[in-house]
Amino acid sequence: MPDQQARASELRTLLNRAAHAYYVLDSPLMEDAVYDRLYQELLKLEQEDPSLQRADSPTQRVGGTPAKGFTSVGHRIGLLSLDNAFNRDDLNAWNERLLKVIDRPANTALAMVGELKIDGNALALSYHRGVLERAATRGDGSRGEEITANVRTIASIPLRLQIDDPPEWVEVRGEAFIPDETFAAINDERERRGEALFANPRNACAGTLRQLDPKVVAARRLDFFAYTLHLPGDAQPPSQWAALEWLNNAGFRVNPNRELCSDLAAINRFCDHWEQGRHNLPYATDGVVVKLNNLSLQEAAGFTQKAPRWAIALKFPAEEAPSRLLQVAVQVGRTGAVTPVAEFEPVALAGTSVSRATLHNADRIAELDLHVGDTIVVRKAGEIIPEVVRVLPELRPSGAEPVQLPRTCPECRSSLVREGSEAATRCVNSCCPAILRGGLRHWVSKGALDIDGMGNKLVEQLVDRGLVSSIADLYRLDPALLASLDRMAEKSAIKLVTALEQSKQQPWHRQLYGLGIRHIGEVNAKTLAAMFLSMDALNQAAAAEPERIADLHGIGPEISDSLGLWFTTPANQQLLKDLQAVGLSLEATASEREDAAERLSGSEGPLKGKSFVITGTLPSMGRSEAKALIESAGGKVIGSVSKKTDYLLAGEAAGSKLTKAESLGVTVLSEDDLTAMLQ
Ligand code: NAD
Repeated sequence: MPDQQARASELRTLLNRAAHAYYVLDSPLMEDAVYDRLYQELLKLEQEDPSLQRADSPTQRVGGTPAKGFTSVGHRIGLLSLDNAFNRDDLNAWNERLLKVIDRPANTALAMVGELKIDGNALALSYHRGVLERAATRGDGSRGEEITANVRTIASIPLRLQIDDPPEWVEVRGEAFIPDETFAAINDERERRGEALFANPRNACAGTLRQLDPKVVAARRLDFFAYTLHLPGDAQPPSQWAALEWLNNAGFRVNPNRELCSDLAAINRFCDHWEQGRHNLPYATDGVVVKLNNLSLQEAAGFTQKAPRWAIALKFPAEEAPSRLLQVAVQVGRTGAVTPVAEFEPVALAGTSVSRATLHNADRIAELDLHVGDTIVVRKAGEIIPEVVRVLPELRPSGAEPVQLPRTCPECRSSLVREGSEAATRCVNSCCPAILRGGLRHWVSKGALDIDGMGNKLVEQLVDRGLVSSIADLYRLDPALLASLDRMAEKSAIKLVTALEQSKQQPWHRQLYGLGIRHIGEVNAKTLAAMFLSMDALNQAAAAEPERIADLHGIGPEISDSLGLWFTTPANQQLLKDLQAVGLSLEATASEREDAAERLSGSEGPLKGKSFVITGTLPSMGRSEAKALIESAGGKVIGSVSKKTDYLLAGEAAGSKLTKAESLGVTVLSEDDLTAMLQ
């Protein structure tokens, strides 16, 4: 099959390049999980059609070739890799295979050791009569690089075994690694010196082990966990668990997070525990290694070309994976902003299946150089929203078209616009059904009018059937008509109409927020509603004194401009009239007004009746802290300086407000002055 052949060949080429970058240059081209998935794809192709197998395939080799600059040494006993399991089904399948190989009935419980898979670099340590004689990297499994001088600097590796009467030779294998904290310090130092940063602790460790100067290695404070022991003849302990004990007693650091499990169920519990628990460890782990405990059973199971049959590495759920981009859909939000969304072949990430990720905007698409059919790298860590990290252009199908945003709105077909320096492309047709749907959803949402019973599906029906063409129309809905809609009945319709009626009593700031004016979130709506007690007052201020709005704490010119634009749009003025006509007050209630009056006159306290303006950066408190302090002492904080202002509280880099206060003779206070006034 020429397609499979071509795919196998491109995967082989890319994976070989990646393996060289990873093992030899210590500078990975891709994330491990991405490498793993592409490797599994190649392995599957080769297993399904063995004629696709090539001697240079990464599936046929352990690790990379030893780097130049070091003496290459043969290992007394080969250092193999581990087969991988990516989920519990793989783990079960491995257990079943193992039982067959060692000729045991299908349900036999095998004692196994659960160990953490330390994400470092394997070392082979050779001791002669108890003294460390030689240390080597794994290399290609049969020959590695001789790095004894460097390894001698690792404090957790004994230079002399702490045992009486040591045998002629001892071979110890384990993982050299760099703890997270040390890794961060190394990269900080490299950044300061303008050197390239290491991608992860494992690559930093590999790079360090291959330093030509042992002093540099010593400074990097590597650590080591031992996990494999080879002794001559009968001296070999009868189990993996006993071997770990031996290593511990001989002076090695053996990872304490290990467990002797009596069956696979116990191993599964061990894996469950460390899937979460690993995040609290001070070093990186990328899975759990499960090893058959009994040595004679291990011998019966034997090895494949690359790995022992009696052990398996269960990798922790990947947070990155490759996938194929199927298409880019676009969504139009309530502000008209068009969001491109990548739709790709489903991949399992951090325990969930992911098939869509936002691409944010046209710039991001261009930055990724995204083409339809591209192999993309997708990332999702825990609760974090999935994202497309990059593409692998090496795997791009020939003739693939670059992804482009449509020129017209997918909902209403009007031309899309991208203004000035804005990142977003927008539909500016205020009658666009997508904008209307978004606006309605926002109006009924929790922080806004909080209307129970008005779900997304209902909003969609109302818009699609032309029953609602503005927020105000919601209040004109007839219960009988509502009851006739999908998933609605008489009772739910009446309940909804009642909820709509009640929503008219929601506070003024929620009504303002519900309109969905750009940049007016819940906090800004509250600030504005506290200062301007009705839509009319806000409308007038936006037209006549926009700087008064901009000066409000946390507001600023962008928001005041956005309000100005909103009010000058005729459709919005019509909306306000319609809302008032259906019974929304669009102003503060009597009790809200009383609260505001009390706030403005100032409550009791040493600063009662005094007005303050805050400017510049205060030495120890933030502006909101200063504001709260003044208000709690009865003062009020306003946005701009006038003759009526009592005090200007000025910090560092105070600008025009300070000049104005000085010219008007307003008393200028420092933070210390204010603190003194409050004592
Ligand atoms: P591996 O890392 O998946 O597993 C084998 C290794 O695990 C052993 O050699 C040993 O060093 C280590 N290990 C850690 N704790 C252990 C323990 N308790 N017991 C036994 N062994 C333990 O396999 P590998 O052959 O070293 O490397 C293949 C992996 O390297 C791939 O799965 C991939 O993730 C990564 N890789 C990445 C790239 C890339 O471009 N990012 C390229 C090549 C390889």
